[in-house]
Amino acid sequence: MPAATLRHLFGRVVVGCLLALASLLAPVAGAQVERLFDTDYVRADSLAAPAGLTAAWTEPQKKLRLYDKDTRLELEADSRDCRLDGLRLFLGEPAVAHRRTIYVSRIDRDRFLLPILNPRGIPGVVPQLRTIVIDPGHGGKDDGATNAKLRLREKAMALDVALRLEKLLKKAGYQVVLTRRKDTFVPLPLRPVHAKKVKADLFISIHFNAIENKAVTGIETYILTPQHQRSTSSDKRQPDDRIKQAGNDRDAWNAVLGFRMHRSLVRSFQAFDRGLKRARFAVLRDLPCPGILIEGGYLSNDVEARKIGTPEWRQKLAQTIAAGVTEYRAALNEARR
Ligand SMILES: [Zn+2]
Repeated sequence: MPAATLRHLFGRVVVGCLLALASLLAPVAGAQVERLFDTDYVRADSLAAPAGLTAAWTEPQKKLRLYDKDTRLELEADSRDCRLDGLRLFLGEPAVAHRRTIYVSRIDRDRFLLPILNPRGIPGVVPQLRTIVIDPGHGGKDDGATNAKLRLREKAMALDVALRLEKLLKKAGYQVVLTRRKDTFVPLPLRPVHAKKVKADLFISIHFNAIENKAVTGIETYILTPQHQRSTSSDKRQPDDRIKQAGNDRDAWNAVLGFRMHRSLVRSFQAFDRGLKRARFAVLRDLPCPGILIEGGYLSNDVEARKIGTPEWRQKLAQTIAAGVTEYRAALNEARR
């Protein structure tokens, strides 16, 4: 074998060894992107430094905890469901065990987890919070969910909570606008148009749930699905996932708002935590400001519906949503500091 070829081969072996060494060292190198399952993934512990957390296995190769004295994020391989301070949050892509650690999708890190953990790191101008639009779900010919036995209709419950919330938010000094004040039908696409017209800084849509399985109870909070991700109810990717919606400009603040509101709701009611979820609901897609949709309980469950049917419970819901707004405002203030 000629010396040049030998040198060439030797060179390749050295380069090969160096590459192998580099790949061994790669797990400690930080935030590089890896393509897994046709998606950009990053090491979950790349969240640790910017959020001031420490990473440790709670179950090797399966469950990773990122924590400090106040915060505990639990990630699990092959699951879209994670826990932050005990609350259930849905990621857009499952966490993955890879290279002896856990990876999360880049979008989940940058547009969801990191903004929640560290609002101060969110790039761009911090949103204002002066005008709040409250959107009572359904109305007029659209009853929404119903409980015939208890004669409860979602449209009436949602409007009642909205009017109570309006009083509380006005008292706290906000400008408040409702998308409807009476039992009238408002088409879904007009609701975000309303928010645009009044230059809303925050949009809160109020709903109640129903499902065939009458045993189901609990609270869900929805934010807009980030571009290139699946909605929580979708097992497969959809062509729509690739489309950027106007509301996607505020993914990071939607995440902060969603988390803080969901925490306020689940803790106040000690309700079953059905999770902070993502959907491309018509009322969230075209918003000019951060927004959420709250499913405040199940009218299809008689025990939960009976509670929703009382003015005291609806007042508590309005107060809890107002407290969630205060928590969101605290995050905006943290980010401005
Ligand atoms: Zn509804």
